[in-house]
Amino acid sequence: MSTKLAWIDEELKNLKEAGLYNTIRTLGSAQGAWLVVDGKRALNFCSNNYLGLANHPRLLQAARQAMEKYGLGPAAVRSIAGTMDLHLELEERLARFKGVQGSITFQSGFTANLATIPALVGKDDAIISDELNHASIIDGSRLSGAKIIRYAHCDVGDLRRVLQEQRANYPRAMVITDGVFSMDGDIAPLDQIYQVTQEFEVILMVDDAHGEGVLGHGGRGIVDHFGLHGKVDVEIGTLSKAFGVVGGVVAGNPVVVEWLRQRGRPFLFSSAMTVPDVAACVAALDVLEESTELVDKLWSNARYFKSEMQKMGFDTGLSSTPITPVMLGEAPLAQEFSRELFEQGVFAMSIGFPTVPRGKARIRVMISAAHETPDLDHGLQAFRTVGKKLGVIAG
Ligand SMILES: *Cc1c(COP(=O)(O)O)cnc(C)c1O
Repeated sequence: MSTKLAWIDEELKNLKEAGLYNTIRTLGSAQGAWLVVDGKRALNFCSNNYLGLANHPRLLQAARQAMEKYGLGPAAVRSIAGTMDLHLELEERLARFKGVQGSITFQSGFTANLATIPALVGKDDAIISDELNHASIIDGSRLSGAKIIRYAHCDVGDLRRVLQEQRANYPRAMVITDGVFSMDGDIAPLDQIYQVTQEFEVILMVDDAHGEGVLGHGGRGIVDHFGLHGKVDVEIGTLSKAFGVVGGVVAGNPVVVEWLRQRGRPFLFSSAMTVPDVAACVAALDVLEESTELVDKLWSNARYFKSEMQKMGFDTGLSSTPITPVMLGEAPLAQEFSRELFEQGVFAMSIGFPTVPRGKARIRVMISAAHETPDLDHGLQAFRTVGKKLGVIAG
């Protein structure tokens, strides 16, 4: 037998020995406050289903209705076989929701980044990137061939220093930042970043994956949160988190959107979102535009959970969003904590190196509008029990 793939077995063994092997749990239910995880009912503290839209009756109904008319798949790329009016409707609605002039959808937030970054900068140019940016920004940046210069996390002073030293060396430059950083739940200082990009004539791109449906009036996102309408050149979003479906979106300057229709490679060479996805996202916009109820509930749930955790003596880190890190220190403790929580009927994942720095392992609790107060109380009780048992809080 050939041994040309034997290195993979070796690498997999190394991952297991280092405690870095990913074991993926199997879900036997729809997303919601409670899940069936590996056959067991558990409270869901893991998903990005911020507003509970992933199994919302209005979205399901819209998906079913659209399938009656349009079927399932788009059957080819839009630039060759034409585009369904449904996709255009979603793009118009997304642009209106965000208060910008144009938007274009992609198969995912990940592909939106892979499409956008190489379309805007190339090998002679520079990308100035927050050191904690998402993997899809890093990959899109590499694909562009541009020089990648990192600045210290959310540090506008350091961003300014980089631009002072390097801006003149490149014809085009683009600053890219996550809007909300998913591991700590902190928000990029986009208003100050915008000021700096103005001074140095650089393109500004924000990836608002965790801010969409969460920040701003009725979930309109980070640009709305800071009142920067029309000022941010490129806003990337995902339809897989708060929107509860799947897909990616680029919103902002209409010239950028038009350029992506001509030069965004995942637009030109990969098929579009499917019919039920698109229809469900339009329905998600209906829900969001009719009322801020779900967004308000998300935030009140998050405030309640965080303050009760802090009262018990847990360190919930630097988050200013519904993402609630519970800081534990070393990875083995975080892993044990997660296992014990699961025994208590709570599904919450531990996150360790290399996703977060060494010594900063944590349980990340994702709060949702799908949770009711008794659900949160169940989760709090489990944290109290396990926290005392493992000596994290005073018993
Ligand atoms: C989740 C996430 C993505 C990827 O979004 P998908 O739609 O799931 O591909 C991209 N960027 C950031 C910052 C994210 O958090």
